[in-house]
Amino acid sequence: MIDLRSDTVTTPTPNMRRAMAEAAVGDDVYGEDPTVNKLEDEAAALLGKEASLFLPSGTMANQVAVMTHTRPGDEVLVEAEAHIYYYEVGGIARLSGAQPRPIGGKAGRLQPDQVKAALRPADIHFPNASLLCVENTHNRAGGAIWTAEEVAAVADVAHAAGLKVHMDGARVFNAAVALGTPVSELVQSVDSIMFCLSKGLAAPMGSMLVGSREFIDRARKNRKLLGGGLRQVGVVAAAGRVALQEMIDRLADDHENARLLQRGLSEVAGLMPHAPSTNMVMVDVVRPGLSAADVGRRLKAAGVLTNAVGPQRLRLVTHKDVSREDCERAITAFAEVVSA
Ligand SMILES: *Cc1c(COP(=O)(O)O)cnc(C)c1O
Repeated sequence: MIDLRSDTVTTPTPNMRRAMAEAAVGDDVYGEDPTVNKLEDEAAALLGKEASLFLPSGTMANQVAVMTHTRPGDEVLVEAEAHIYYYEVGGIARLSGAQPRPIGGKAGRLQPDQVKAALRPADIHFPNASLLCVENTHNRAGGAIWTAEEVAAVADVAHAAGLKVHMDGARVFNAAVALGTPVSELVQSVDSIMFCLSKGLAAPMGSMLVGSREFIDRARKNRKLLGGGLRQVGVVAAAGRVALQEMIDRLADDHENARLLQRGLSEVAGLMPHAPSTNMVMVDVVRPGLSAADVGRRLKAAGVLTNAVGPQRLRLVTHKDVSREDCERAITAFAEVVSA
């Protein structure tokens, strides 16, 4: 099977498995797991922030961030298709008791004017807006990128109004590699960042929440509240350390394979692939009478797995477990099933 559903399907590398087997461990709720402590120090240093926290998933890391930045009844400004709002089971409302305020963005990005327009003056009727969330790269916008300047422009507006800014950077290293910008520069203007070790970086699990020492100390308590305090978790943090050391630069290969897929599929009548920014290709099925689900089903029978993200749209995600040859085979399979 050629699995283009998501970069979450990546399996740990031999170096990761070796590091996991040999990891020094301790009880991380006591702060005594040396491997977790090293990973947290390394992640904070890489992003140019004071401290970081290892969490089981990106969803928990995002929701811990919201809980730590807000109080119940606050308003959280989010882009309307953002993962933190769209795909996290209503966690902003349910776990933090905060009110999400969705704002329609362009390719996942918000303009400074839109943020300004969403901010309301102090008034007895209005909730207290305390947090703005941005997503880089933007998942539902097909791996779209914000530059450091674009992030800073909206962060400045939010900060001027007293809001904090959280970046859902599940794939922030894809953005950094595609732009050729150090990741520390991309996150410089935000107060907290979540990134996933478990996607393109290929660790079996884990996400990091990164920010100031004071913020991370409070986030650690909220992680415990949500049941995310783990014990000898150095066994998986060890794979996360390998991910940061060995798996970032190679994301460029995934971006190259995404461009290869886009070029190949643009030759297939009945398909309209969008130009990728990073490791995702959105493909619109434009042959009358044929849905994305139809194409997905036929591709599966031909050994290619994809995800339908809309009635006429398939999402393809490249990652370390699909080679250039796999992508070429996928293009052939697409041509066969769409013309059949
Ligand atoms: C995958 C993803 C998450 C959540 O990560 P999980 O580890 O799957 O919970 C959050 N935000 C974005 C943009 C994602 O793509």
